[in-house]
Amino acid sequence: MSENVAIHPAVDHGLPRENPSFSGGTLVCNCADRPVKVAIKTQVQHNHVCGCTKCWKPRGATFSMVAVVPHTELQVLENGDKLKVVDPSALIQRHACTGCGVHMYGPVERAGHPFDGLDFIHPERLQGGGYAPPTFAAFVSSIIEDGFPPSRMGAVRARLAELGLPPYDCLSPALMDYISTVVAKAAGKLAAD
Ligand SMILES: [Zn+2]
Ligand SMILES: [Zn+2]
Repeated sequence: MSENVAIHPAVDHGLPRENPSFSGGTLVCNCADRPVKVAIKTQVQHNHVCGCTKCWKPRGATFSMVAVVPHTELQVLENGDKLKVVDPSALIQRHACTGCGVHMYGPVERAGHPFDGLDFIHPERLQGGGYAPPTFAAFVSSIIEDGFPPSRMGAVRARLAELGLPPYDCLSPALMDYISTVVAKAAGKLAAD
């Protein structure tokens, strides 16, 4: 067994359970004083754990948990003045709380990009839970870039598989197919919808 491999606090004891009637919730940062609150008005899509070094990870987590929602379904409710974009040159404009460091949402605003119009969020910040659980692990090998010992990668991949999170070293096949489909339609190689 590989239960001693910490993936993320929200999955380490089994995947979170989806509430079938979930229709949204409120993301809240870690600040005790004036927390940032962001409303999400729909179920999250493509939830996964991510090993890249850019996504925000809670303390002790090896992976982040990240999903997308359409930008039109997201609204800053309170204390948005505390937010600052981590890296203005990045594709994903990750808005972090300057008080506690939690990334609250990350819009993609790049015309023609497959992710244009989507926001990346960390569903475990949704008060009350009920969000769709993660279904795969992305950019698994990238945890080495953060100092994770390469010799333990076998144990990490085994634990991810045990949890029902197939490990990939880019995105999942479904998301990679989606990206290529958008690119092909833009290039006229496939008929547009
Ligand atoms: Zn905060
Ligand atoms: Zn990531």
